Amino acid sequence: VLDEDSEIGSSPLPSVPSIADSKWNDTASYAKKKNVQAWYQLSDGNWELGKIISASVTESIISLPEGKVLKVQNDCLLPANPDILDGVDDLMQLSYLSEPTVLYNLQYRYDRDMIYTKAGPVLVAINPFKKVQLYGNEYIEAYQRKSIQNPHVYAIADTALREMKRDEVNQSIIISGESGAGKTETAKIAMQYLAALGGGSGIEYEILKTNPILEAFGNAKTLRNDNSSRFGKLIEILFSETGKISGAKIQTFLLEKVRSSSADFFALICLKILVSDVTSFMNSPEWCNVLKVNVRTIYFINFVLELQLHLESSYTITGVDDAEQFRIVTEALDVVHVTKDDQESAFAMLAAVLWLGNVSFTIIDNENHVEPVADEALLTVAKLIGCEVKELQLALSTRKMKVRNDIIVQKLKLSQAIDTRDALAKSIYSCLFDWLVEQINKSLGVGKRRTGKSISILDIYGFESFERNSFEQFCINYANERLQQHFNRHLFKLEQEEYIQDGIDWTKVEFEDNQACLNLFEKKPLGLLSLLDEESTFPNGTDLSFANKLKQHLKSNSCFKGEREKAFTVSHYAGEVSYDTTGFLEKNRDLMHLDSVQLLSSCKTSLPQKFASSMLVQSEKPVVGPLFKSGGADSQKLSVAAKFKGQLFQLMQRLESTTPHFIRCIKPNNLQSPGIYEQGLVLQQLRCCGVLEVVRISRSGFPTRMTHQKFARRYGFLLLESVASQDPLSVSVAILHQFNILPDLYQFGKGRPLDRRLECLRTQEIGRFM
Ligand code: ATP
Ligand code: MG
Repeated sequence: VLDEDSEIGSSPLPSVPSIADSKWNDTASYAKKKNVQAWYQLSDGNWELGKIISASVTESIISLPEGKVLKVQNDCLLPANPDILDGVDDLMQLSYLSEPTVLYNLQYRYDRDMIYTKAGPVLVAINPFKKVQLYGNEYIEAYQRKSIQNPHVYAIADTALREMKRDEVNQSIIISGESGAGKTETAKIAMQYLAALGGGSGIEYEILKTNPILEAFGNAKTLRNDNSSRFGKLIEILFSETGKISGAKIQTFLLEKVRSSSADFFALICLKILVSDVTSFMNSPEWCNVLKVNVRTIYFINFVLELQLHLESSYTITGVDDAEQFRIVTEALDVVHVTKDDQESAFAMLAAVLWLGNVSFTIIDNENHVEPVADEALLTVAKLIGCEVKELQLALSTRKMKVRNDIIVQKLKLSQAIDTRDALAKSIYSCLFDWLVEQINKSLGVGKRRTGKSISILDIYGFESFERNSFEQFCINYANERLQQHFNRHLFKLEQEEYIQDGIDWTKVEFEDNQACLNLFEKKPLGLLSLLDEESTFPNGTDLSFANKLKQHLKSNSCFKGEREKAFTVSHYAGEVSYDTTGFLEKNRDLMHLDSVQLLSSCKTSLPQKFASSMLVQSEKPVVGPLFKSGGADSQKLSVAAKFKGQLFQLMQRLESTTPHFIRCIKPNNLQSPGIYEQGLVLQQLRCCGVLEVVRISRSGFPTRMTHQKFARRYGFLLLESVASQDPLSVSVAILHQFNILPDLYQFGKGRPLDRRLECLRTQEIGRFM
């Protein structure tokens, strides 16, 4: 039911609204609201659609579903959009823009398997948790021909492609969202679209095949997602001058190799390597063959089984067939030219990691010094990596230290030996992952001369906030803080500044600026990262001393709160997260003992040797003795956090030089089930990523902008009469007048003060008229 003072129907185009039109702003006309639909917020925070039965200036009587009738304050009601706007494909078209109307619109579409919706320039993608009929060659072709206009990842990829060619500028597709929201799937869908353009020599096929490989080695089943990426990934797809795919380059970020305990780590590795179902894994001859073992004897696989029995929960991922997965991965490795020999070595390394978990120690004296037990596990590890059993034993139970000019050998105690064993396993695992990425990059032609432009797709872990948050969440959330700034900068700040500079009149939209939080992380010398690195260099630094240091120096920072003992809280853009510093220093130092590196370099097989040299070359790890080198300049770049920060800066720099396209993935429920749409959960994610603000800013802004010159050049031929003055501004004015374009829909910019020739004409939706 339309109210007479509603704007709907007055114009088929989105009017130029003010932000306040999310509400009825004319209190006087409340009496006329009879029969109007409105949103009412229930005590649990959910919104319900009702109809106003009668209304006064302050109160209304509203009828809600299931026969409820309530008397409510007018403040508790928000206007609903008329039915004709149900399920519009761009939130910008909603007359009344508010949280309930956006939630409703997304749900309306979701219920009909329309999982994609535009929010101005941003694509919102809601995870369907089931197969939806939206993909494949027919759809790809339809989007290429532009015969389908519905929002889609394909449409975003297509726009990126067109803009890359038209503007000769590199593009990026930045995909974000919580764990399980669908980032990786979305990235694959975008890749599929680009790959469909073909390249020649099958390079596009190779690019697609990198997905199963990286997922097999770098994903794991978590509570939130059966196939959770435990690393961030940027894939840059390179195009030749003719617009064909010519190659690609993959960069990965912060592979998660450490979890809270070593048992967790090994269990994670077990599950990572394609294990969807431990039982079928144990019985799969493929695995027994490559691992050259009877998998039943792997301690940590048994650990997982026990845990499974204990928790009565299942590590099984339904619907995944390990033997089939194994075939897919080895085939993909073939496609990216990893030789069979190398594949065998890679699997041997994985087997070594698993077997390391079985290595046990006996105490040999009353000082708790230990020696590894020379059992099947130890012998198998030695065989797999290609070293003498004796050397492996020594590397796991002693440590060489340099004291002045002498080398002394120190025996390890039980806990030190276990740490050393686990550190070796983790290093082998992360080196293996890096090595794989390197092989893939070689095959995809990194280093070949670049001729054209590129499209980069970023699939990076979203903001994480758990009951207990550790170093990994600390890094991940820091990265998200940076990405959020990029997003803000792009969509809000730059836009606003540009308008102001250009003398364009528009309503200022407030947005959350997260610079203060970034400062908390990055400030030198008193920011979280600097203080962490400083404490990591102190031989006597502990997690507690680190936490105390934070409290001492940062207590006045508004984004920081000290908590009890070892904890602290950061106010992130997406909410407060409390971090427990337990393990921070160890994870940040990421010690790798010289003895282990030497062990690997002495191996007769090629991969361990490569791993050893890459550890030394990168010198990212302090490889001398147990202490983090204090002071010196290189101890800075050695820490995990510092390396991550460096990677992130590089990433941001790269992204800054591209035209970004944003996709926000949303998880509609925590059950990974189709058809369930939890309002609260969706709303929290929409708030986190500022979707509403984006819509507001885009609605009140002018999405199309051109210099007067370009506009006059492009549309000048449409002029029926020639204009007396041929300057671009006069020509532009004449064109707009000739077509009777409403003055509301465009503005003339005054041009930048520094470059008068760059006068800008800004139009809103002018494309519709041309
Ligand atoms: P993480 O941060 O944990 O890596 P993610 O955001 O990458 O999570 P995905 O792995 O892409 O999440 O998606 C989780 C699951 O959701 C997928 O395994 C798949 O089952 C389902 N899914 C996501 N997107 C789609 C889609 N477009 N169609 C069908 N199912 C999907
Ligand atoms: Mg993922």
